Amino acid sequence: MLTLKGLIIREETRGESSKCIYALTEEQGVICIFVRSGMKSSKYSSTTQLYVYSELCLEEKTDAKGNVRYFLNSAEEDHMFYNLRLDVKKMSLAAYLCELLFYSRVETFDRSEVLRLALNTFYYINNGKRDIEYLKSVFEFRLLCETGFRPNLLACRECLAYESEKMYLNLYDETLECENCCQNPLDPLTIELDKKLLYIVRYIALTDFDKLFNLKISPRYQEQLTHFTERFVKYHFREQFDTLDFYRNF
Ligand SMILES: [Zn+2]
Repeated sequence: MLTLKGLIIREETRGESSKCIYALTEEQGVICIFVRSGMKSSKYSSTTQLYVYSELCLEEKTDAKGNVRYFLNSAEEDHMFYNLRLDVKKMSLAAYLCELLFYSRVETFDRSEVLRLALNTFYYINNGKRDIEYLKSVFEFRLLCETGFRPNLLACRECLAYESEKMYLNLYDETLECENCCQNPLDPLTIELDKKLLYIVRYIALTDFDKLFNLKISPRYQEQLTHFTERFVKYHFREQFDTLDFYRNF
């Protein structure tokens, strides 16, 4: 028997009454767990529902091809994020963030940081004490930073200038250039950042988790940040997420 703590990020029905849940865990990344009778009201239906962080006790079985499969034995709630379920905008944001988690290559990277990011973001969505658009932007950009796509934001790659009135981030090679060195600022893979936006982007990419959610930004810069992080997501995932369109409807 194996005991892991996991955030439930996806569920799929299996047959008439069973389901598979996908849990983000520190030890193994995202794992798929079969829950017998999980779609009926069962003893563990609340602790295996979406967006719950639970302690999961699992049976491991290895099939003929050597693949390990997990079956739920029992589950105990650690954190429910209850308020998130009462607000359709918060719920739709949670659905989008879970979709990003599902499609990111969490296994290869520091899963404790990704899990911490997810739990912290859910905590603040749930308590309503942070701007929801800021939480979305932080999650989008920091998730990609933690899974191998942190751009080099320290200085211009040519002259090493720390800042200029405008800096340009190239998505293709993930580097910054200042306005003197950037040859092609209108390149479709280039994003223009003024000093303030660059400060915000550096802050989200590099600051410690205990300060990450404390930055306050104006609506004008939030709009620019949203544009920046959505472009960053679109470039790296190469996907259009229906859950993001759904979130935008509210
Ligand atoms: Zn330069």
